[in-house]
Amino acid sequence: MSDLIQAYINGQWVDGSGGVGEYHSAFDGSTLGTFTVCQASDVERAVAAARVAQADWAATPLLDKVDLMYAAYELCKVANEEIAQSISAEMGKTIHESREEMLQYGWGHFRRAAEDMLRFRGMTLPNSETRSNSKRMFVQQYPLGVVGVISPFNFPVDIPAIAITYALIAGNTVVWKPSEHCPGSTRRYAQVFEDAGFPKGVFNFVPGYSDAGEALVENPDVRGLFFTGSTRVGRKIAAAAGAGLKRTLLELGGNGPIIVHSDADLDRAVEATITGCFYMAGQVCTAAERVLVHENVHDDFVARLTERAKKLKIGDPLNEDTDMGPLCNDNVLRQVVSHVDDARSKGADVIQTADVVGRLYPPTILVNVTNEMLIAREETFGPVAPIIKFRNVEEALEIANSTEFGLNAAAFTSNLRDAWRFVDGLQHGTVLINETTNYWDQLAPFGGAKSSGLGRELSSWALGAFTETKTVVFDIS
Ligand code: NAD
Repeated sequence: MSDLIQAYINGQWVDGSGGVGEYHSAFDGSTLGTFTVCQASDVERAVAAARVAQADWAATPLLDKVDLMYAAYELCKVANEEIAQSISAEMGKTIHESREEMLQYGWGHFRRAAEDMLRFRGMTLPNSETRSNSKRMFVQQYPLGVVGVISPFNFPVDIPAIAITYALIAGNTVVWKPSEHCPGSTRRYAQVFEDAGFPKGVFNFVPGYSDAGEALVENPDVRGLFFTGSTRVGRKIAAAAGAGLKRTLLELGGNGPIIVHSDADLDRAVEATITGCFYMAGQVCTAAERVLVHENVHDDFVARLTERAKKLKIGDPLNEDTDMGPLCNDNVLRQVVSHVDDARSKGADVIQTADVVGRLYPPTILVNVTNEMLIAREETFGPVAPIIKFRNVEEALEIANSTEFGLNAAAFTSNLRDAWRFVDGLQHGTVLINETTNYWDQLAPFGGAKSSGLGRELSSWALGAFTETKTVVFDIS
């Protein structure tokens, strides 16, 4: 067992006031270590430190901030394997998926945030009120102040890293409450800020449970909130943050479809469904939670998907040859089991490629799924491909848009006109044609429609989220 994981507040590694919590292996449930539990008073201390540090940090020359971001990027590369091993142990995604989280997405945020800030442009405005040239107007962006970051278990480092890096480069200071399931990997990431030399109080790390998150949301000195997690918790945060008139960026749940039209390239659609449904054992907000298949190709598609799913090797996420690891925790397992049981009881047929062993839930394909089943309406967050038949594009769109969520949706077709009907008709933050739902580009805006979130992150959209707009009117007469 490793040493106690501490909080990082005002440049010091310290204990929280809530005692000690344990965290566990997703694969076999064994105890991996312990972490100090921060509560409201610790969060208050961290926010106070961040508030004191903010003015100097905002006034620090941009090039000095950029140097720190680059130094942190280099340190992340050194810590990469240690963090990847830690994520796989505590969260359960395979070691390849963990390395991808870091190398492909997570570390690059330090560089992208710095580069985006160097290219962040204001705007000059024409004077449309007076017939004189003496009024000059322009728009400036300035930081919000202290930003609170609350993050989920599934991308324990990459997702908070987006908010942390973009909030910091824009001149905010940060207090981060990581997922209680992943204190090991997140603590190692927090270390990078100390090693890179960020001034004390600029970045703070408060491990703990939901009450620490609530304290961050309710603290009046927190002016911006970045939350990624379930829609259930997101609604509570939206209500509390709304009452405090705080800026929020909310990235919430999804149950986006992959639509396989009658003229789709079936091999390509099968591969996209394997990635969409079984990558990270389905624990991705953009996972394909429903697979809508045209009735003419339904049986062929299901047969090919089943054959392909059987080839996935499930097991210990730390083994180099494992294709799919376990579910992260028992709450996720209970939810997956209850959704599959509900579907079965309402007439779905369940095809599983292996037995369920502990939290190792095998790739599962459900046929004869109807829109009334929980699996079709809610977010399942497990390795399940529920197949729903459709007859035409109108029906596919109606089913696809019939739930409260609107994160990612994908459609496979070789017909240009139908492709555009999907682009225009799908009510989702990202629509993908002939690509899986689990596809993101770090320079494109990302976020959800409907109950899947509020606002957009990544690239200059993240800078917009963490800055306030100031209109400057300058009269030179
Ligand atoms: P969760 O909502 O249970 O927890 C997320 C974080 O919120 C944790 O750090 C938790 O401690 C904290 N928290 C819980 N209750 C709180 C409260 N009342 N106030 C403040 N903080 C609170 O989510 P999870 O199980 O860790 O993650 C899975 C969920 O995250 C899924 O719904 C998934 O779709 C979603 N997610 C969304 C995106 C996206 O970009 N849209 C990305 C990843 C994950």
